[in-house]
Amino acid sequence: MIRGKTLGGTSSINYLSYVRGSPHDFKSWEDSGAVGWGWSNVEPYFRKVENATMDGMSAKLGRNGNLKLSRNHNEPSKAWKLIKNAASELGIKTTDYNDDMLGLSPVTFTVHEGIRQNSVAAYLRPIQKKRQDRLHIVTGALVSKVLIDNDSRFGSKAYGVEYLKDGKYHTVRARKEVIISAGVIGTPQILLLSGIGRKKDLQSLGIQVIVDLPGVGSNLEDHLLIDAIFMTNLTNPPSEKNPKVQYILNGNGPMSMSPKTAVFVKLPPKGTSSSSNERRRSFPDILLFLQENPALPTLLYLGMMLHPKSKGNVKLRSKDIEDHPVINPNYLEHEDDFQVLRKVYRLMEKFEKSAAFEKAGAQVMMPAICNRTQNKDAPRNDNFYNCLIWETSRSANHHCCTAKMGSRDDKYAVVDPQLRVIGVKALRVVDASVFPHQTSSNTQASVYMVAEKAADLIKQTWQLRAL
Ligand SMILES: Cc1cc2nc3c(=O)[nH]c(=O)nc-3n(C[C@H](O)[C@H](O)[C@H](O)COP(=O)(O)OP(=O)(O)OC[C@H]3O[C@@H](n4cnc5c(N)ncnc54)[C@H](O)[C@@H]3O)c2cc1C
Repeated sequence: MIRGKTLGGTSSINYLSYVRGSPHDFKSWEDSGAVGWGWSNVEPYFRKVENATMDGMSAKLGRNGNLKLSRNHNEPSKAWKLIKNAASELGIKTTDYNDDMLGLSPVTFTVHEGIRQNSVAAYLRPIQKKRQDRLHIVTGALVSKVLIDNDSRFGSKAYGVEYLKDGKYHTVRARKEVIISAGVIGTPQILLLSGIGRKKDLQSLGIQVIVDLPGVGSNLEDHLLIDAIFMTNLTNPPSEKNPKVQYILNGNGPMSMSPKTAVFVKLPPKGTSSSSNERRRSFPDILLFLQENPALPTLLYLGMMLHPKSKGNVKLRSKDIEDHPVINPNYLEHEDDFQVLRKVYRLMEKFEKSAAFEKAGAQVMMPAICNRTQNKDAPRNDNFYNCLIWETSRSANHHCCTAKMGSRDDKYAVVDPQLRVIGVKALRVVDASVFPHQTSSNTQASVYMVAEKAADLIKQTWQLRAL
């Protein structure tokens, strides 16, 4: 699994798309026990994160936050026009997903003047000098466990962490509380090594059990995607400017921004479900990214299923922090997930058959793998697509939920709605592992939102000034 092992974590290596998700996602977080995380609660924190820097960006995005955002398609390309025409034939409207999520939209990016905006640029660098008396950063260090006082009368309380650096173990003590933000794999690994997790699993590795919390490492969700390439007859005239020189000298040109377009699609109701609720539903099932290649006459079609039913898990391999944990994503365990991905292929066929794509000579290039193994003549039937899904689907790198937030009576909740680890005092988790389940979007926007809200929860605990 790809992870950013550097300052800024995965925000330092990701593909830069910024998508909040739909209000419905957060209603469903709240309905599942994350009280205080409904849309009206989280929307101010998204705004607090955001600094939409370009003219014409959605009025719903914040203007004063730390994270600078921009968007593409100010100079529409031939590919954007092609996709827009085809989408309109298919009844897909053009929108800005920040205003209205369903439809075809330019993409908002964590980019400012052609430069990546990661959590270091947005949050760390601006205050690093000012706070150097009390902000200590240790790089190249691996936290191996949380130090916990396990008192039978007063309960368990975290008081620091142990970490490994240059072959030596060190400890750091916390005066108030310990916050873990090690991501969807690192966080459960640290909790398990600290004795917080499923009792049976911890005992089998000889780890002293502090709290029996079966949810630690379970509930792993991700967006699985399929892709295909369209060959087209669209050619961009050779640029008079050298893109590299243009980028280095002016910070603009093709190298300064991803040329992708997003399409959020809602699937028709399943079987007999024609309830008015289902028809009114405003959140998508599928996200497509369509991306031209400035150097070749091709269009990448990338489609992901947004609400997977299959869930995986993360388990320890051993008691050694340097041993990678076992990650079992369990993709496609649920038959419904196959069905959704097959529909992503069927939608691709609709684009292919549209008059706009036909005019552009757009033809899908299928990988040969399933022609040989299953369907010699490659009829595009369900078996053919099942084979392609099985052989070629891959992670969208939107993992979440391995220390999910929920009510204290939910057996699989790991943190409560204040992000406090259940059963251990003075210990919080703040990262994508606390999502109760996936949002209809890429994950980074919600991680920033969770972090901003966590900052206020922490201030409230210690009675400091919040939002
Ligand atoms: C290739 C790729 C492309 C992506 N593209 C997008 C995109 O375009 N848009 C989007 O919204 N999302 C995208 N994502 C997802 C998004 O970037 C992540 O969901 C998000 O950054 C996760 O944030 P996090 O704080 O939970 O974890 P991370 O950002 O992974 O941070 C965890 C940090 O903890 C550190 N750590 C882990 N274990 C330990 C330990 N034991 N001791 C010390 N440190 C530890 C890690 O090194 C890392 O620095 C992408 C992800 C990947 C991998």
